[in-house]
Amino acid sequence: MEEKKILLSERELPTEWYNVLPDLPEQLPPPINPATGEPIKPEDLLPVFPISLIKQEISQNRWIPIPDEVLEVYKLWRPTPLVRAYELEKYLNTPARIYYKNESVSPTGSHKPNTAVAQAYFNKIEGVKRLTTETGAGQWGSALAFACNIFGLKCRVYMVKVSYYQKPFRKSLMHIWGAEVFPSPTNLTNAGRKILAEDPDSPGSLGIAISEAIEDAVTNEDTKYSLGSVLNHVLLHQTIIGLETKKQLELINEKPDILIGCVGGGSNFGGFILPFVPEKLKGKSEVKFLAVEPTACPTLTKGLYLYDFGDTVGLTPLLKMYTLGHNFVPPKIHAGGLRYHGDAPILCYLVYKNLVEAVAYTQKAVFEAAIIFAKTEGILPAPETAHAIKAVIDEAIKCKETKEEKCIVFNFSGHGYFDINAYDQYLESKLEDVDYADEMIKKTLEEIKKLPGNV
Ligand SMILES: *Cc1c(COP(=O)(O)O)cnc(C)c1O
Repeated sequence: MEEKKILLSERELPTEWYNVLPDLPEQLPPPINPATGEPIKPEDLLPVFPISLIKQEISQNRWIPIPDEVLEVYKLWRPTPLVRAYELEKYLNTPARIYYKNESVSPTGSHKPNTAVAQAYFNKIEGVKRLTTETGAGQWGSALAFACNIFGLKCRVYMVKVSYYQKPFRKSLMHIWGAEVFPSPTNLTNAGRKILAEDPDSPGSLGIAISEAIEDAVTNEDTKYSLGSVLNHVLLHQTIIGLETKKQLELINEKPDILIGCVGGGSNFGGFILPFVPEKLKGKSEVKFLAVEPTACPTLTKGLYLYDFGDTVGLTPLLKMYTLGHNFVPPKIHAGGLRYHGDAPILCYLVYKNLVEAVAYTQKAVFEAAIIFAKTEGILPAPETAHAIKAVIDEAIKCKETKEEKCIVFNFSGHGYFDINAYDQYLESKLEDVDYADEMIKKTLEEIKKLPGNV
C-alpha cells in the first residue's frame, strides 16, 4: 500500500530558519526613508520593532537558530504532514503526482503562528508588554492573539472592517485568546479618523489597518507593532515550512517539478519556496515556482516594480516591490488575506528576476476548485488556499494533456472552517466575480511614480 502522509518525528523538526538574503545574486534594493530619500538605518525601526527582529530583517547569516522556547510551541503542531493527494489525482485523471504541505493543522488553522510565536517571543524577551497589529480575514490576528497569550503579552488587533462583519468567528477566537479587536478604520487613531473623514463607509483594507496599528505602537511606550507578512523576518520564520517539505520529499526520493502557493503578502509562499531557491540559482534544479493571486488584487500580474509605502497613510518606509499603489482598495473578495496592494520585497525580487512566475484567478473559479478539493481530499481549504488549488488543478490538467508525470507540491496554507458564510454564498450562487477596477489601478500607480526611489 502506498503511503499517503509523509511524516517527520519531532526530533526531525528543523532547529534553524533559512535566510535567503546571502544566497541572492545581489543585495535587495534597500528600504527608503520617504522624508530624506535615503536608505533607512536599522535604528530608525526601533520605535516599531524589537532589536532582535530588526537584526533578523537585515541579517546576512544563512542560518538563524530557532530558540528552544519557540521550538517547544512549534511542537504543538509541527512538523506538519506532507500529504499525497491521491483522490484529487484520480478525480483529475492526471499522471501528475500531487502533494500538499498541510499548514492547516496549527491551533489557528493556518501557517501564521509560525511567525506569530517567534515574534511574540522576541518581543517578550526584550521587555515589550503589548503588541498591536492589523488583520484581514482574521487569520493573522488570531495567530498573534494565540502567540501573545502563550507569552503573556497584551494584544490589540485592527481588523479590516469588511472582514470583521463577514467573519465574526475569527474575532471570537481572538477574544478567547484575550486580544482586543476593533473594526478598521476606527476613530481611535489619527490614521483611521482621516480615512473615515474622507469615506465614512470605507470597507477598510490591510493598508489602512497597518497605519492604525503602527500609529498605536509608536505612540505607546510599552508597545511594539507586529506584521504578519511581507517583511524579511516574517518570510524567514516561515521557511520552517519549506525546510520540512524538503526533508519530506527527500525521504520519498521525490524532486518537485512545480511548487505552488497563494500570495497575499508572500509569507506562506516565500517560506515554502525559499529553501529550494539556492539550487535553482545554481542551476542544479529546474523547479518552477508558481505564485497565485486573485484578479481582484493582481499585485504580481498587473502591478509595477516600484518603491511604495507598505501602508495606506504613509507611515512605513518605502519598499521596492510589485505594487498596485498604496491607495488601491481591493474589491471585497472573500479571500481577505490576499487583499494587499504590495508583496514581500524578497518575493518581488524573485519575480522581477523571472525566477518566480505568477498567475491570477477570479473568485468563482477559485471556489469551484475549493469544492473539488473538499470532495476529493476531505478538507475544506481557506479561500486564500483555494487560489493555490485552482493553479494545481490547472497544472495537473496540463500534465494530462502532455502526458507528463510531474511532481506538483503546494502549500495548503489554511483551512476554511471559519469561512462557511462565503461557501454558503457560493453554493447558493450568490457569489459574484468582483473584478478589480483597471481605471483605479492606473490612478493609484500614477500617484506613486513621483515617490523617492522611483524618479
Ligand atoms: C494570511 C493568509 C494567506 C496570505 O498571506 P501570505 O503572507 O501571502 O501567506 C494565505 N493563506 C492563508 C490561509 C492565510 O491565513
